[in-house]
Amino acid sequence: MNVMLANDDGFDAPGLGALQAALQGLATLWVVAPDHEHSAMSHAFTLHKPLRATPRGERAWAVSGTPADCVYLGLHGLLPVRPDLVISGINRGGNLGNDVFYSGTVAGAMEAVLQGVSAVSISLDKRASDTLLHWDTAAAVARQVVERALAERLSGRVLLNVNVPNQPGVGGLRVTHLGQHRYSVRVDERTDPWGRAYYWLGGEHRDFGEDPGSDGAAVEAGFASITPLAPDLTSREWLTTIQGWFHAE
Ligand code: MN
Repeated sequence: MNVMLANDDGFDAPGLGALQAALQGLATLWVVAPDHEHSAMSHAFTLHKPLRATPRGERAWAVSGTPADCVYLGLHGLLPVRPDLVISGINRGGNLGNDVFYSGTVAGAMEAVLQGVSAVSISLDKRASDTLLHWDTAAAVARQVVERALAERLSGRVLLNVNVPNQPGVGGLRVTHLGQHRYSVRVDERTDPWGRAYYWLGGEHRDFGEDPGSDGAAVEAGFASITPLAPDLTSREWLTTIQGWFHAE
């Protein structure tokens, strides 16, 4: 078995090291990760400048691009084999609900799915005030999930989005749906030395709403959350209604 690892925090991030250590012995591990941090870059893809891939050991490269670049390049350019699974993480910070649209970690995993390889994204959900990070907790969950995914020969257009609460050990694993992650709204307007306005965007974590069975609810209750995601964003709920707008007799 071959497993390719990627992330968005960068090649030298502690989460990637923890993931690599946790998966030892499960498969041959390959690493293709950005040479510096690309958090909240979502699915950005580099088309208009060259990419460099610097070897960083026997089956590892640091790439001057985004997480999606890394996965695409790894699959189609660097690895001599097609991996059975791609794992993205362990991210420093949760990727719950709305976060998946901004996340470079999830985008790296989704790029694998778009290229036909099933994937797992894994994130350690920490609050801004947390100073101690329990990488070992997330690493143990990662090993459990990857072990099972490989045993089940997970394949198809699916991404398992895993989030682990930042605590010593978890109450167990819950299979969840994608919820909402609500943040306070923040647009901070300031003035530059030339008198022109500039802005800082991005609020703080507020809550996950009242949504039993959601990813946020599981993590808040001290459980690891695993949500199967697919690239098809079609709203089945709205499909017939919208069809009615344009195909009415
Ligand atoms: Mn990150």
